[in-house]
Amino acid sequence: MGTVFQNAILVQLDPPKVEHGGLRVSDGKIVAVGKGVSPEPGDDVIDCGGAVLMPGLVNGHTHLYSALAAGMPAAPKTPTNFYEILKYIWWRLDRAHDVQSIRASGQIGALAALRCGTTTLIDHHASPDAIEGSLSELEGGIAEAGCRGVLCYETTDRNHPDEARRGLDENERFVLLCQKRDNGRFAAMVGAHASFTLNDDSLAGCADLAKELGVGVHIHVAEDPCDEAMTKAGYGSNLFDRFTQHGLLDIPGTIFAHGTHLSEADIDVVNQCDTITMAHNTNSNMNNGVGYAPVAKFKRPPMLGTDGIGADMWREARTAQFKSHDGQLPLPFGRPLDMIGESARFASKCLGVKLGLLEPGAEADLVLTRYVPATPLSADNLAGHMIYAMGPEFVSDVMIGGVWKLRSGAVVSCDEVAIRAQSAEIARGLHERMSEISCD
Ligand SMILES: [Zn+2]
Repeated sequence: MGTVFQNAILVQLDPPKVEHGGLRVSDGKIVAVGKGVSPEPGDDVIDCGGAVLMPGLVNGHTHLYSALAAGMPAAPKTPTNFYEILKYIWWRLDRAHDVQSIRASGQIGALAALRCGTTTLIDHHASPDAIEGSLSELEGGIAEAGCRGVLCYETTDRNHPDEARRGLDENERFVLLCQKRDNGRFAAMVGAHASFTLNDDSLAGCADLAKELGVGVHIHVAEDPCDEAMTKAGYGSNLFDRFTQHGLLDIPGTIFAHGTHLSEADIDVVNQCDTITMAHNTNSNMNNGVGYAPVAKFKRPPMLGTDGIGADMWREARTAQFKSHDGQLPLPFGRPLDMIGESARFASKCLGVKLGLLEPGAEADLVLTRYVPATPLSADNLAGHMIYAMGPEFVSDVMIGGVWKLRSGAVVSCDEVAIRAQSAEIARGLHERMSEISCD
């Protein structure tokens, strides 16, 4: 028994494709697409009413550990730069996490994603006082909502002498678990916070572990000038020279998040490395006041991510386009759609499945919208609809792996009301613990 969608506008973002017709799902995958698709006996038939049906979106860089940040205690001092934003806010929040709040963050972050039609999350997790088992807790929360995930633990030396070793152990444990299960739902990378919070042994440890396990490293790179300056001051080397010394540029499937302050020479290196995928996070960069990444100079589209500020990829695409017009490096119109496509390609490789495509053999991660275009829609003008007219407010139903997670705007994968009520209690404890952590 499968599911057949009829009377739909089938929209694929990258490569852009718009087609009127139907689509059939069976055993979790798309098995037929186009005008001639008809139901088989026992199939559920969904009349899409002429609305857009599209693949689930992929968030290329996020931090669900901040899913319970709304209403958190104010910074004890007003941050005057990015390093102080980390120190006074985010590094206090991550230290306040326990296993319960990590799981709740996974649930709430993934529920928010579902409502935005975001079905896969590439996450970079930190909880320095609850490292062991944290990725499984996070996975458990995400799985309850029903999303897919590519997870890692942000290895760092910033709090305790044995913290990096514990971070590496957690990465290793979870990578091996995901590789053993090979279920297409969760995959893992080796996480590294950023060069400036990792000593030489720890950075080498991340690179060596990733090579040994055959996965990429997920690391923040040049989000702010402090990454380069503190790397130089602490380790006597430029950021990219240090990466070269540790072989980080040779590890396939590696994510460099941000790249806001890459030099021209660094951009050349990135453009020559097939191993490196950049992740751009416009809203977060604006929020932290760190500047604008040279997105137009990247040969391959970077992935698009929210960096923990929700999971609305429409908002992220719109801001990515607008912000580029606001500065000196305008992006070709519609480039953010290629960036969402890159996120889907990257996640597909990690998970060993086909995401972001409406074709036979691709995963049935589908977003049914109420978007019945009020103006002509074609592959040529799809970017205009995505950036100016569509948004999560049109998402009505979400299916992941052929199973409904959201139906007519209601979550069906779990008891959302109960989870949110429980989360409010858990968040209260998280915020109390955070307020007790000093920032000195
Ligand atoms: Zn980040």
